[in-house]
Amino acid sequence: MRVVRTISALRRWVRSEKRKRHSIGFVPTMGDLHAGHLALIRRARRENARVVVSIFVNPTQFNEVRDYRRYHRNLEADRRQASACGADLVFAPSAREMYPFGVGSRVRAPRQAEGLCGAFRPGHFDGVATVVAKLFNCVEPDRAYFGRKDAQQAAVVRQLVKDLNFPVEVQVCPTVRDRDGLALSSRNRRLRPREREQAVRIWRALAAVRDEVRGGKGDRASLRAFLRSRLKGPGMRLEYAEVVDPATCVPVNRHWSRALVAVCVWVGDTRLIDNVIVRRPSSVVLRKDRDGRRTQDAGRRTRKEVVICYGRC
Ligand code: AMP
Repeated sequence: MRVVRTISALRRWVRSEKRKRHSIGFVPTMGDLHAGHLALIRRARRENARVVVSIFVNPTQFNEVRDYRRYHRNLEADRRQASACGADLVFAPSAREMYPFGVGSRVRAPRQAEGLCGAFRPGHFDGVATVVAKLFNCVEPDRAYFGRKDAQQAAVVRQLVKDLNFPVEVQVCPTVRDRDGLALSSRNRRLRPREREQAVRIWRALAAVRDEVRGGKGDRASLRAFLRSRLKGPGMRLEYAEVVDPATCVPVNRHWSRALVAVCVWVGDTRLIDNVIVRRPSSVVLRKDRDGRRTQDAGRRTRKEVVICYGRC
């Protein structure tokens, strides 16, 4: 497996692989690889002739210099792990290589970036959209792999690809979790033992919401209140808990059938995000009452009733 540091060396390799008609799968990362990243690399390995992994701690997506500086970097360990999972090339540029003239032209992230993390991290998704566009231009992948853990990022990238006509298939892969359910994240290593114990409550709360929805609950305000009540405690601060449409990231209206429940929680001074996709049971149907208003009813449908059914009923 090769490691290249410059865009010109990367382009030479890409050109020679394209000449051989090899498809290229691409996994963009900020390094400090864990099993979540490795699952993306393995999936790319299965679906493409060649696999490129980028390792670049992108300064333009950090809101605080301190956070950028303390991001854990370990290229040698990353290189070994990427190679063991079948990557063909690791692209590990410096910030100067990526931004030789400063940031310069920027990509403005689409409207998926407005809520959730975007509301608390101004400019973050512009930084993500800009670096993803630059990387796509350099790697020219056929397929790119992103994790569901960063569901808003995946929605932003999907829209970016449509808006800017990148010939790239975006694949969003399931979140890999620790045994107790905590979503793997490079930030988990910052948690002290006591904080690590608290952090597991995030997944427990999301799993409980999923059960609530399966049981027929679906009111956005109640689901948010439910999460708020489960995610408070010493050393924990909820930044947001929202129920949104997975593609647009806009809060759901009353008639949703599939939604993304997303949370951001500070545990100590570590910011953690996680989410779950929930589906309302098909028996929960919306039907018109005598006055023609839509009402929610978990009862059985009869042929005589006027039934307006959303989602897969
Ligand atoms: P990062 O290095 O944090 O920028 O993440 C690089 C990619 O790995 C992104 O597409 C993330 O969504 C994905 N990723 C991070 N953690 C996980 C996880 N626990 N499971 C699956 N994918 C993940």
